[in-house]
Amino acid sequence: MKKGEFCVLNTPYSRAEYEELVPRIIAKMTSDGEWGEYFPPTLSPYGYNESIAQDYFPLTRSEAISSGFTWSDYTAPRPRGKAEIAAADLPDGLVDTPDSIIEQVIIPSSGRAFRLTGPELAFYRSMGLPLPREHYEDRLIARLKRLNPRALYQRACFKCNAKIESSFAPQRSERVLCASCYQQQVL
Ligand SMILES: [Zn+2]
Repeated sequence: MKKGEFCVLNTPYSRAEYEELVPRIIAKMTSDGEWGEYFPPTLSPYGYNESIAQDYFPLTRSEAISSGFTWSDYTAPRPRGKAEIAAADLPDGLVDTPDSIIEQVIIPSSGRAFRLTGPELAFYRSMGLPLPREHYEDRLIARLKRLNPRALYQRACFKCNAKIESSFAPQRSERVLCASCYQQQVL
């Protein structure tokens, strides 16, 4: 729909009909507790466990369902290719990596097989990066584990002792700086 006027859920109405309809819809949605709320999770085409919410606020299947979210039991089929190669046998250098690597199924020690795409291989070559040895979801999980928890701690700046909030917990070894000390340090 482009430049539509006086429409409700893609149905066009006359101005008079629309102005009569809208207050009734708002009153009904307000009494149902829906007005101003985000779309309910039951309308989501994805399971809770497929969304980024699961990365930051992980729930079990039963917790998600009892909270009104949907859950997906989909498992992706094992990729197929012209040949299989153990991740441990992948060439160490990109110079030694043939283009045909994208036709092969890579088997890491976890057993979660994966393939590389052409643009992915081109990217690794352009950046001088080694080929990945793990399934991409396992790589994502490993990266997420390295993130600080979503919590803020009262800390003091290492240089000027100003009170600051940091996602680095006090018992951690990293030094934390206030914004201005940090700016001086990096400029
Ligand atoms: Zn400071």
